[in-house]
Amino acid sequence: MAAGRLTDRAPATDYRRDRRRLVERLRDGGVSDLAVLHAFDSVPRHAFIPDVMRARAYEDVPLPIGRGQTISSPTIHALSLEYAEIHPGHRVLEVGTGAGFQTALLAALGARVYSIERIASLYEAAARTLERLGVDARLMHGDGTRGWPRYAPFQAIIVGAAAVRPPEALFRQLADGGHLIVPVGRRRQELRRYTRRGEHFEKETITGARFVPLIEEGRRGGGAE
Ligand code: SAH
Repeated sequence: MAAGRLTDRAPATDYRRDRRRLVERLRDGGVSDLAVLHAFDSVPRHAFIPDVMRARAYEDVPLPIGRGQTISSPTIHALSLEYAEIHPGHRVLEVGTGAGFQTALLAALGARVYSIERIASLYEAAARTLERLGVDARLMHGDGTRGWPRYAPFQAIIVGAAAVRPPEALFRQLADGGHLIVPVGRRRQELRRYTRRGEHFEKETITGARFVPLIEEGRRGGGAE
């Protein structure tokens, strides 16, 4: 522990109080799933936020995590998790590990978590944070738009960046009855839930949203495949 660093001075109990207030705000805002609220109460969001922004860790806002990426607001994570209907033992694929906060929430919900991040430095930082906190999750550095066929089918897939069109591979890797949570659109986006019913996918809109764009290597790479 680096003694005397400004950001280390706030006692842990302050964060606990901030965290409790955030959970109350989420509940007052309509998040009713107790397991989700409990996950927010047990995962230290501040551990995933860069030093300079850490004081704002328990505000209900998205925050920068470096490399032009952001950690979503707690409300967006809570809605995504609530609509994904995660139960203990579910296999869940997360596309866009980012800082790893939602990865930790998924693990707190008892899911078997598989998470893919395309930016190496974010992948490495998330891996370190999650290991330090003792979070059990399988991480991969790579392109999440292809999913992770080896561990499919998934009972839920949560995408943390906005797709122009949700990637085909993710529909194929969804278990029957499973949910795909994905923000769709360019500037005007909506967070959607697709539910698999055999070969049919039911579509619902959860809320309006503003996510960073999902990078689709296949499109940028100029047809190398
Ligand atoms: N929910 C995350 C934040 C996600 S930000 C958290 O709790 O911190 C979205 C992330 O998706 C970014 O880190 C971005 O690098 C990543 N991303 C974008 N396109 C991707 C792709 N094709 N495959 C994997 N990750 C991708």
